[in-house]
Amino acid sequence: MANMSEYSELVIVGSGPAGLTCAIYTARSGLSPVLLVGQAPGGQLINTDTIENYPGFKSIPGYELMMNMLSQAEELGTQFIYQSLERIERGEGNRFRLSLSSAEQIVARTVVIATGATHRRLNVPGEEEFSNKGVSWCATCDGPMYRGKTVAVVGGGNTAVMEAIFLTNFAEHVFLIHRRDSLRAEKYLQDKLFSNDKIEVVWNSEIVQISGNERLNSVLLRSVIDNSERALALLGLFVAVGTTPSSGFVSDLVETDGDGYIIARDTKTSCAGVFAAGDIVSGSLKQAVFAAGQGALVSKYVEEYLGAR
Ligand SMILES: Cc1cc2nc3c(=O)[nH]c(=O)nc-3n(C[C@H](O)[C@H](O)[C@H](O)COP(=O)(O)OP(=O)(O)OC[C@H]3O[C@@H](n4cnc5c(N)ncnc54)[C@H](O)[C@@H]3O)c2cc1C
Repeated sequence: MANMSEYSELVIVGSGPAGLTCAIYTARSGLSPVLLVGQAPGGQLINTDTIENYPGFKSIPGYELMMNMLSQAEELGTQFIYQSLERIERGEGNRFRLSLSSAEQIVARTVVIATGATHRRLNVPGEEEFSNKGVSWCATCDGPMYRGKTVAVVGGGNTAVMEAIFLTNFAEHVFLIHRRDSLRAEKYLQDKLFSNDKIEVVWNSEIVQISGNERLNSVLLRSVIDNSERALALLGLFVAVGTTPSSGFVSDLVETDGDGYIIARDTKTSCAGVFAAGDIVSGSLKQAVFAAGQGALVSKYVEEYLGAR
């Protein structure tokens, strides 16, 4: 663990694929990065059963992939601090003062924000129990498991509609469950959705219960019009009701979009010396390989900024 009063050339915030890849690259360049791990060492993938689209691994448990990245970064000399960043301010001489959850501070010359995002949940009974057992937040990751099956997407925005259309590449039938009588998604996406025979929209309905045995096999829907309830048999449920970026501590310092994601061009934010990589970046693909790629890219710009390249 780093000495808290220490000055560091580079502090990386977040221990998901983006932060850890940045640590691996910058440590190999001799920069001695300090990495704030946050509450979830390894990020979003740590609790994911199997990753089947990370190049080089046909299938690997999320825990194993992230532990490999953590130990690789550590062996190369990354200093891990098991705390969260609470606040970041401009200090003197183009430096930044980082306040940690322990109230201790670190001064840094460059900061890489790789704090990711969290998927919003439905908060209904059964969601936790069947998470990764039929309930998913990522069609790109889990869609191919549902070849020839019936699945549903819940949500009404662009992501929900895109996920529903994407899932028709595999599933026999796709329900799109939405609590209103119209979608928020852009018109061209709606046109594609409504012209797809495999998709059936279930309007004015909320999911109130997720059920199954070993795996999910049905959801209970309640009409928002008359409160009537009915069960819908399906094997996969994709929740697409939005994501929340972990960027509250930095929004005063860098430009963010309307949803709080950091606007960064080639990982460079509006504040020189502060970089962003991975899911926290506005418009990110929200995939591990993309986050890792950004972790590699950001290392190049940090090294250039510090004059190490
Ligand atoms: C259930 C699920 C399944 C998925 N499956 C796949 C898949 O199969 N394939 C795929 O490519 N992608 C998948 N994804 C998406 C993938 O997990 C993300 O794209 C990827 O993890 C993003 O990496 P990241 O490093 O940007 O952020 P994250 O993985 O979100 O890591 C962010 C890190 O920042 C830390 N942090 C947050 N706030 C602070 C703070 N204030 N101070 C310090 N640290 C902080 C967190 O603790 C965490 O360690 C899945 C996502 C989920 C939720």
